[in-house]
This record gives sequence, C-alpha cells and structure tokens, in this order.
Amino acid sequence: MNLETMCLHEGYKPQNGETRVLPIYQSTTYTYESTEHVAKLFDLTADGHMYSRISNPTVDAVEKKIAALEGGVGALCTTSGQAASLIALLNILKAGDHFISTSAIYGGTVNLFAVTLKRFGIECTFVDGEASEEELEKAFRPNTKAVFGETIANPAIVVLDIEKFANLAHKHGVPFIVDNTFATPILCRPFEFGADIVVHSTTKYLDGHAVQVGGVIVDSGKFNWANGNFPEFTQPDDSYHGVVYTQQFGSAAYITKARVQMMRDLGAYPGAHAAWLLNLGMETLHLRMERHCANADTVARYLEKHPKVEMVSYPTLESSPYYNRAKKYLPKGCSGVIAFSIKGGREAGIRFIDSLQLASLVVHVADCRTCVLHPASSTHRQLTDEQLLGAGITPGLVRLSVGLENVEDIIADLGQALAKA
Ligand SMILES: *Cc1c(COP(=O)(O)O)cnc(C)c1O
Repeated sequence: MNLETMCLHEGYKPQNGETRVLPIYQSTTYTYESTEHVAKLFDLTADGHMYSRISNPTVDAVEKKIAALEGGVGALCTTSGQAASLIALLNILKAGDHFISTSAIYGGTVNLFAVTLKRFGIECTFVDGEASEEELEKAFRPNTKAVFGETIANPAIVVLDIEKFANLAHKHGVPFIVDNTFATPILCRPFEFGADIVVHSTTKYLDGHAVQVGGVIVDSGKFNWANGNFPEFTQPDDSYHGVVYTQQFGSAAYITKARVQMMRDLGAYPGAHAAWLLNLGMETLHLRMERHCANADTVARYLEKHPKVEMVSYPTLESSPYYNRAKKYLPKGCSGVIAFSIKGGREAGIRFIDSLQLASLVVHVADCRTCVLHPASSTHRQLTDEQLLGAGITPGLVRLSVGLENVEDIIADLGQALAKA
C-alpha cells in the first residue's frame, strides 16, 4: 500500500459482517476460557490483551497504522507526546546514563531533558545541530546511550540533518531517536535516513483537529540492542520472570520492552476513545498535509515580500538556510508551520496577534484551522534567553500555523493585522 491508502486502511481490516469503521472497545478488561491461556499471556508467549494499561484492540489498530506509515516493526501509543519522549528514553536510559540532544527542539522537551530527567539522574548534553561532526564527537561520553533530535524543530522551523546524526549515533553504538511530529510520515520517514526510533506528539497533525492530546513511539526494528551497550535487552528482566527481550522478541525487542515493562509500570496508555479520535484524524492526514504545505508555501512567500516583515523562516523559501536540506528530507513540503518576525519586535508582534480575526491565538499548532502563538510569552516562557536563542527563538518571533482555509482568506487576515502592527 502507498501512504495515502495506509491512512485509510492500515490497522483495521474488518471480516465478513463486522463494522466498516474501527470499533471503540471501551473496556478495561478481557475474558478468557482457561487459566492456561491467561498464563501464556502473562508469559508473553501468546498474543492477546490482558489489561488496558498495556494494550487495547482500538489502540492496537491505531498503533499498527502508525507503525506501517513510518515503516516500523511496531508502535506504542501514549497519553501525550511528552509521555512518548519520556518512555522512549527511559526504555534505554537509567540513573547515571547520559544522552545527547540537538538544542532546536520543542520547549516542553527541553524542560523534560534539562530539568526532570536530571532529577532522575539522567544527564543530557544539548548540541548545535549545525555543528561539525568533529565538534559533535566531543559531546559523547562512555555512558552516552542515545541521541535525540526533531525533524522540523518547533517553533524555530529548523530542519534536522537526520543522516548526519544517525551516522554519528551508530558510530558510538547508540540509537538515534527522532521527534517527527511536524513532518508526519507523509512528509518524512526518518527510518529511511537511519533513525532507529521515532516519537510523535499525535496531538498535532496526526490528530489534526485539536481534539485529543496523545503521543506514540515507533520502533524501526533495525537497531542492534545486543551490541553490548544495552544489557537490559540481553539479560533476564527480573520484573518479568527472566524474559530476555532480544531473544524472545527479536527485531521488536525495543517496542515490546517499552510496552510490557515501561508502560506496565508507568501507566500512560491512552483510552480507546482517544485512539478512535486519532484514527479518524489520520484517515485524512495525507490530504491535509498536502494542503497545509501548499497554503504555507503561499503564505510564506506573501510574508517575505511584506514591508512590515523582518524575517520569515520556512524551508521552501530560497532564502532559507534549510532549503537544500528540506529538498532532501521533505521533498513534498515542510508542513503548515511558519516562523516570522515583524519589524518593531515584541510590541509589534503583540499588536499583530491581537489584531487577527480569522487566525486564532491558541497554545497549539498543526490544527486544521489557522492559529498563531508568541513563543517567548507562552510555550517557551520557562526558558532562559540563552535557551531561547539555542532553540532559534527571538523575542519578537511569531509562530504561524497555516490551516486548511482558502489561502486568500488567510492572507487577507494577515494583511489587515500587519497593517495595524
Ligand atoms: C507538542 C509537541 C510535543 C509534546 O507533545 P504533547 O502531546 O503536547 O505532550 C513534543 N514534540 C513536539 C515537536 C511538539 O510539537
């Protein structure tokens, strides 16, 4: 199947007489005919559902769809994008370990890495994504266990050189984890460029309608967890009466461990209804991404020529430093998100946002409706000025998430608000 067909048909294939639409299995519990079967489920030697903190048939269908879209061997849905990043890392790292992340990532992820994981005894070194390989080498330590980056960084719209970081991580025998939220598998499939694990905030384009917070972890199945750096995968798990993940689950060792060990203990699994809403959104993901990209390209070109606009960051613009990189990693387009700043800095930015009529001011992005945000006073408020600049954010930066409205209506609204800025 091609991606467009997968959006509609992967994950749920009804048999004779079954519902055409994915059912909502609103149940915490499953029944069995014998204790023997339950024993096999608990031994992980039979397939099936045990308890809806670990799996559920509706969520399972959505996980299969996302795994197929990304080209992975399996996926695990989570209650948020934050939970996806947390569990993706805790599945590999423990107290005393270290990992490396590019600094151009979502603000909430910066907090998680720099503050909360540090309290767990896990240390993160932030690096400049544009640094040379030689420079990046210096960030690696004997206890480095993973490298993390974001395909299109929120909100600075920095495009990641996925291959460079994948090669570097692999040279050190550790996996490369990519947050692919803004690109979605429609625009970029990081596994094709060497990434090992993908995470998403499904809250954004995958859902697309701003109805349900959620996340997902996808496993490429390609990383060799038996390379000596990850004993938790090759030695018996005491909490699972001695299961050895690489032996019993082969290429699905990572995603199985994330589910039966991490999700079992941390408990951030979405409900069936949440997964059903996500699935409904994903059925039109391919169409929506096409229009988001086309509208954003038109709007970016309009903004770039506007006399009140100081800077526009959108990778399809020839002026973008990421123009060539985007051609390689994002040939179909760069999502609906544009960052730009208005002449007159913070004050002008605020006047502009307060004058918009069609575009709404929300703490959200990647919605089907056009929306705006001023990162320095909202999502990235907790960051220091230094961290802000590291994430590519100036005080006057506006993040515009171009929706699916007629592009002339979007431009008319931006035009009247710019006139008032
Ligand atoms: C929103 C976002 C997150 C966090 O996801 P939530 O679903 O809000 O927890 C992580 N990464 C990126 C790129 C995001 O845009």
